Amino acid sequence: MAEEKRTIGLSTKIFISLLLGAAAGIAVNYGLPSGYFKDTILVNGILYVIGNGFIRLMQMLVIPLVMCSLICGAMAIGDTKTLGKVGVKTLGFYLVTTALAVGIALTIGLLVHPGLGLNIDIVETSEVAVSESTGFADTLLNIIPKNVFASMANGDMLPIIVFSVFVGILLAKLGSRAKTVSNFFAQFNDIMMEMTMSVMELAPIGVFCMIAKTFSTIGFDAFLPMIKYMLSVIAALAIQCFIIYQVLLFLLTRLNPTKFIRKFFPVMQFAFSTSTSNATIPLSIDTLDHKMGVSRKISSFTIPLGATINMDGTAIMQGVAVVFVAEAYGYQLTPTMLLTVIATATLASIGTAGVPSVGLVTLAMVLTSVGLPTEGIALIMGIDRILDMLRTAVNITGDAVCTTIVAKQEGDFDIDVFNKD
Ligand code: ASP
Repeated sequence: MAEEKRTIGLSTKIFISLLLGAAAGIAVNYGLPSGYFKDTILVNGILYVIGNGFIRLMQMLVIPLVMCSLICGAMAIGDTKTLGKVGVKTLGFYLVTTALAVGIALTIGLLVHPGLGLNIDIVETSEVAVSESTGFADTLLNIIPKNVFASMANGDMLPIIVFSVFVGILLAKLGSRAKTVSNFFAQFNDIMMEMTMSVMELAPIGVFCMIAKTFSTIGFDAFLPMIKYMLSVIAALAIQCFIIYQVLLFLLTRLNPTKFIRKFFPVMQFAFSTSTSNATIPLSIDTLDHKMGVSRKISSFTIPLGATINMDGTAIMQGVAVVFVAEAYGYQLTPTMLLTVIATATLASIGTAGVPSVGLVTLAMVLTSVGLPTEGIALIMGIDRILDMLRTAVNITGDAVCTTIVAKQEGDFDIDVFNKD
């Protein structure tokens, strides 16, 4: 009970600091003249250091937490048959919802025509640093780690997931012969969960600084020219999050979607404030466990996997961006091109890391696949920050909905916890 009180208190605090941060950021943007104090000391000094310090704390948790919880999860699921079933179901759900998301985004883009009438000549294009995107064959191969320590050092989630699941399965198989190692991971897992809760206590301060910094640099003006593009992305995100997911949740589990959203909202807020799916993994697993009744056995596998490969929100941004760039540069989108975009954006979602702005980088892969100019990314870069926040919230909601559905169907679900307010 005390635990519950504390959690509710914390999420209210996070929400309040989100609002206060936005207000403070706007006040700084419009009320303070540019100069050493505002730019160097306040925005890029205090707000940057505290906000990013908090994000780093969350990021610090990710690799050890994911490894331990995956190893424990695979160990607990034990027999490979169940793990395989959960894995196949989860993968199927992730891929289908992402393809659906791109379809919705393209449809809205084609209805709204966000890029029509935009005179590309008058738009100031800035240099875009787009890293080489990896081909499909290599994306697949990279799932197998050549050196798991290198993957850990680089934060490459997929190879870490593969390795951890492998270790977990073997620990289950070896049983008492590997008791020391199993205990080690179980105990380390407890330490990481405790650490997560401690770091979360700092969330209100971190969120305030992150939001204040965003608003103090972007302000309102930056949004205006691209308002149609933004609204299209937002509309598609809303449809995916509040209609598609909720219908799927209801049809496949009969659970109350409103209740789900209400309970999951703090995690969405957190993802919104940080733009980082990876950093929300601990909180998401914890919320699904304590508020929804989803067993950690399932969530410790599906949530890190989802945060790594399932980015429906990102795919939506990319779908609308394709229409926007095509129209802005005067290209005609053929049906074949649209199908290609659905395929490549779904793959790009797998390759997008759950950290801020990576969706813009993998957008290059999507644009190139249909011959559109990657310079188009520069057009939407300036306003991507706010969309990144929104799409990250959708990204992690998709993971949670899938996890809940799989857990419910596999019987690893406690309905009493879900029903409790
Ligand atoms: N920020 C997103 C995430 O962490 C990824 C992206 O679309 O840039 O989920």
